[in-house]
Amino acid sequence: MHSLKSFSSKERKVGADAVNELAGRLRGDVLQPEEAGYDEARHVWNGMVDKRPALIVQCAHTDDVVTAVHFARANDLLLAVRGGGHNVAGHGTNDGGLVIDLGPMNDVEVDPDARLVRAGGGATIADLDAATQEHGLAVPMGVVSQTGIAGLTLGGGIGWLRNKYGLSCDNLVAAEVVTAEGKVITASAAEKADLLWGLRGGGGNFGIVTEFTFRAHPVGPEVMFVFTLYHGSKIREALRYYRGYCETAPDEVSSFAICGDVPPEEVFPETIHGEPYVLFAACYAGSVEEGQRVLQPLREFDEPMVDFSGPMSYADDVQTILDENYPDGMRYYWKSLYLDSLDDDVIEAIVRQNEARPGALSTVDVWHMGGAVREVGADESAFGGREAPYLLGIEANWEDAADDEANVTWAREAVKAMQPFSGGAEYLNFPGFLEGGEETMQSTFGEKYERLRALKRKYDPNNVFRLNENVKPAS
Ligand code: FAD
Repeated sequence: MHSLKSFSSKERKVGADAVNELAGRLRGDVLQPEEAGYDEARHVWNGMVDKRPALIVQCAHTDDVVTAVHFARANDLLLAVRGGGHNVAGHGTNDGGLVIDLGPMNDVEVDPDARLVRAGGGATIADLDAATQEHGLAVPMGVVSQTGIAGLTLGGGIGWLRNKYGLSCDNLVAAEVVTAEGKVITASAAEKADLLWGLRGGGGNFGIVTEFTFRAHPVGPEVMFVFTLYHGSKIREALRYYRGYCETAPDEVSSFAICGDVPPEEVFPETIHGEPYVLFAACYAGSVEEGQRVLQPLREFDEPMVDFSGPMSYADDVQTILDENYPDGMRYYWKSLYLDSLDDDVIEAIVRQNEARPGALSTVDVWHMGGAVREVGADESAFGGREAPYLLGIEANWEDAADDEANVTWAREAVKAMQPFSGGAEYLNFPGFLEGGEETMQSTFGEKYERLRALKRKYDPNNVFRLNENVKPAS
């Protein structure tokens, strides 16, 4: 292994010998500032986040994760845990501490007979889809394929299969976990069921998941997918129509409506560049023929500006259709809120927030939450906000740092203005960072929050894993 210089963190210095010894014990690599590869490795998806950890441990095996946890604790280093690096708040990095990067641990193994999938803690949705689709299977995940399965699953996981097969966390049947003490344990229904409960929506609070075991379902290879843009001048009518559709849609349909401006991209006719749109997007988890019939109304609200709908490859088209809208390094600040309804007053308020969008890349999103998501009992998993019929996403997306304030302010104000239409729960995988702190955790988890705090005390009493939507250990 290469020789490494000593570094200092805010708390204390760690000598070159200690770092060299760490490097010698790892199967993967350790990087520190000024080394080749460090700059690339320190970057996370959100360009708003520009941090310089003292050490980045690129883990190749569970043993590396154990070694890194012990090292961080022995040297009093702040720990960040990274799966796919797509956390909007940038929780997968820090300044002056140690990053445990599970990126190299992205193997996926499928047991098609048992319909079980084992995936490393660093796998992305694309890794998972590629392996499962070989067997005509899929695990419900999110809608952008570069996202890490780890952060996504631990925080919930909302995607194109949710209403039929549930959230990602609902399909988690077991996990290999490295605890704050550096022990390797398994959580499943049979052992440490309390921990499995917490991993299903309680975030990265209880340990580092080195391997996820998921239940998979028959999906694809082709599915019917709707992607239809209507002119934004009819936003009120469009959202009412969408509400009406969702009220009777079968569980096979998972959909959202997005309000934004047509980007100046070749795929759209030039005549509509810059025009406001309402996009209806929906996936049918069933046969293509049935999907064509059931989804057809979403294509018939009005004369569309463009309609890209049709049977599509689940892995190659549906799961990647939004990828290019979220390039690495752009600036992002998102908020979210569960809505009690999508009645006319709510729609009116959404229209106002949409009109206040500060930039053409920003959007206001309405996700329909139904079927399998709401059938799971509130106490069956840690996940909060399950009862709500809609999730509102406020996405500030922009390029120029000079526009930071306008974008962040808009997202904060928009979500505040929508509070009267919500029980107060947020989807904790979306926020740029959690301003509400304890208050938001309380309103998101409700009565379950005390149970989460007790679980945190059991598995991480010293709050070693605190760079996340943090559950404070019960005192
Ligand atoms: P990372 O930044 O790597 O990690 C985030 C946090 O998760 C870490 O700080 C840590 O607390 C925890 N963590 C990560 N890995 C582990 C591990 N192995 N063990 C324990 N804790 C760990 N969410 C949806 O539900 N549906 C979507 O469709 C969706 N689309 C998205 C699209 C984009 C472009 C982006 C950026 C995000 C999207 N999200 C979506 C939100 C996403 O779920 C979160 O941003 C999530 O945190 C990303 O996980 P990650 O592993 O990539 O993040």
